[in-house]
Amino acid sequence: MSYFICNTCGVQHDQSTQEPNECKICNEARQYVSVNGQSWTTLEQLIQSKRYKNEFTHEEEGLHSIKTVPSFGIGQNTYLIQHEKFNVLWDCITYIDKETITKINELGGIQAIALSHPHYYSSQVEWAEAFKAPIYIHEDDKEWVTRPSKQIVFWKGDQLKLHEGIVLHRLGGHFKGATILEWQNKKEGVLFVGDIVRVVADRQWVTFMYSYPNFIPLPANTVARMANRMNTIQFNKLYDAFHRVISDDAQNRVQLSAKRYIAALEGNLFNT
Ligand SMILES: [Zn+2]
Ligand SMILES: [Zn+2]
Repeated sequence: MSYFICNTCGVQHDQSTQEPNECKICNEARQYVSVNGQSWTTLEQLIQSKRYKNEFTHEEEGLHSIKTVPSFGIGQNTYLIQHEKFNVLWDCITYIDKETITKINELGGIQAIALSHPHYYSSQVEWAEAFKAPIYIHEDDKEWVTRPSKQIVFWKGDQLKLHEGIVLHRLGGHFKGATILEWQNKKEGVLFVGDIVRVVADRQWVTFMYSYPNFIPLPANTVARMANRMNTIQFNKLYDAFHRVISDDAQNRVQLSAKRYIAALEGNLFNT
């Protein structure tokens, strides 16, 4: 019996004797099946290959990003937020080995794991078991959990305070239960958005998509609702899942970006 991992999205599936027939995460409009077909691996195989390691970057006081090199699956980062002895792992990556566990324990371990949406569920149960931490997932995305676990806590509503200064907000859009994390540190409000919102090339604007690989936009009223919701959160800085950061004035940049996006959808941005 193995917990097979899809090579394209990096999401681990429930225990089975044979490779699953399809990956539920990849086989729908927001993701894609590789042109080479569906293929699988396991965490044991990834470790035994000695091909991968996790790289830690100290971003700022109380924050590390972690990514797997070479890139595996979708290639997102995970973030370890060290907040008043309550460490939160925001989003998750597939690869985890002894070295990663040791390093994170040196940084205070993990008290809670919170997920933005199904594309980053990766091997979240392995992480939760290694650190004895609960996983917080919005109940609206329950159907996308491919490896069930007692560690998973399905939360309801639009907001969940994990700790003083750490709040999850359901934003919707990319997925029904799509969630972002607000971190009020000693200096400022910081927002972690996964790919519910993404920072674009110049780090001055963001975008909001139903599907990034398939270039499918979100409707104007959904983007307006997401932006209104984000307007109620105090933040100055924003980190996306691919290590793109808006370092200053992020609140304002999000509002301007939503206006530009909606104008484009409504045909008001172009000189045609
Ligand atoms: Zn997949
Ligand atoms: Zn996604």
